[in-house]
Amino acid sequence: MISFYPGPSRVYDQIPRYVADAGSTGVLSMNHRSAEGMQLVKLTTRALQQKLGIPKSYTILFTSSATECWEIVAQSLVRDTSVHIGNGAFAQKWFTYTQALRPPGEFRKLDLETPVPIITTQAELICLTQNETSTGTQVSMETIRALQAANPHSLIAVDATSSLGGIALDFTAADVWFASVQKCLGLPAGLGLLICSPRAVERARQLQEKSHYNSLVNQLAMAALHQTTHTPNVLGIYLLYRVMQAVSPIRTVHKRIVQQAQLWYAFFEQHPKLKALVQNPEVRSHTVIAVTAEAAIIKKVKQEARKAGLLLGEGYGPWKETTFRIANFPALKPAEIKKLMRFLAGLK
Ligand SMILES: *Cc1c(COP(=O)(O)O)cnc(C)c1O
Repeated sequence: MISFYPGPSRVYDQIPRYVADAGSTGVLSMNHRSAEGMQLVKLTTRALQQKLGIPKSYTILFTSSATECWEIVAQSLVRDTSVHIGNGAFAQKWFTYTQALRPPGEFRKLDLETPVPIITTQAELICLTQNETSTGTQVSMETIRALQAANPHSLIAVDATSSLGGIALDFTAADVWFASVQKCLGLPAGLGLLICSPRAVERARQLQEKSHYNSLVNQLAMAALHQTTHTPNVLGIYLLYRVMQAVSPIRTVHKRIVQQAQLWYAFFEQHPKLKALVQNPEVRSHTVIAVTAEAAIIKKVKQEARKAGLLLGEGYGPWKETTFRIANFPALKPAEIKKLMRFLAGLK
């Protein structure tokens, strides 16, 4: 079965070999406070900086998931208010978790075709979902930069769970970026990355929020020692390190992903029954393609695809019955994508 699910998604072919290497080289029982453990964290950090273009001045933290990052950002970087802008289930969930911790937040819900507006706000934190996995929409780097310019006193936090590792992100445009690894990074689940600008670090230090095991100030103190507050997913970090060593620089990956997305959207322009869910090219995602049709057709496509060894992503929330989603992540091979295109082209 080839998985086009946008998370957990197809992992790189090399993963089983890397796991075997982890067994034979002692990584599986490695102590995260040992010299080897700290060295692994250092090397992984360096590989992430080099391959993804993360500025050296930004701090990279290892968490367990993007969901954990939602809570860390809310508890440790917001005293009073945050504003969340988005159109889908993940942006909504982030807001819900934030509200439970810091109630006066605000959610500006957009419709699918509307780009994120350049608002000005008094809120301490602006929260954006760069790639909304549930709807197949994305926020452009220009928009994030414009929001930053319009709100010099607010921090900007960006959920890049289904785009980090697939498209080039301008990390300088925001203060916090995070992702989990089982989507665009092509790794097994159980690890998250939280990337903080010097301004975010400064803000965490000012707020001194320390009521949680994963409070940001505590994590930053441990990161300075190349350690974590708790025992991390050492195998996950090792696999990430190996994958980051093997992949091309993000500019190269970005080009391939954008071209492939354009092929997908052109394909659905031509298709007699299936259409892209999002019509506005400005907000269409490069890494998650949402496809719509009548519920009966969607159901049949998913069933027949499964029989053909192709696993499509289910629709999400209000689009459950009338959409499916296709991951356009780097671990998917051109031959696999061709196979899915041939299958969808041959639908009766
Ligand atoms: C999948 C996803 C999450 C949640 O990731 P977990 O690893 O389950 O915490 C958060 N945000 C977005 C945009 C996602 O796609």
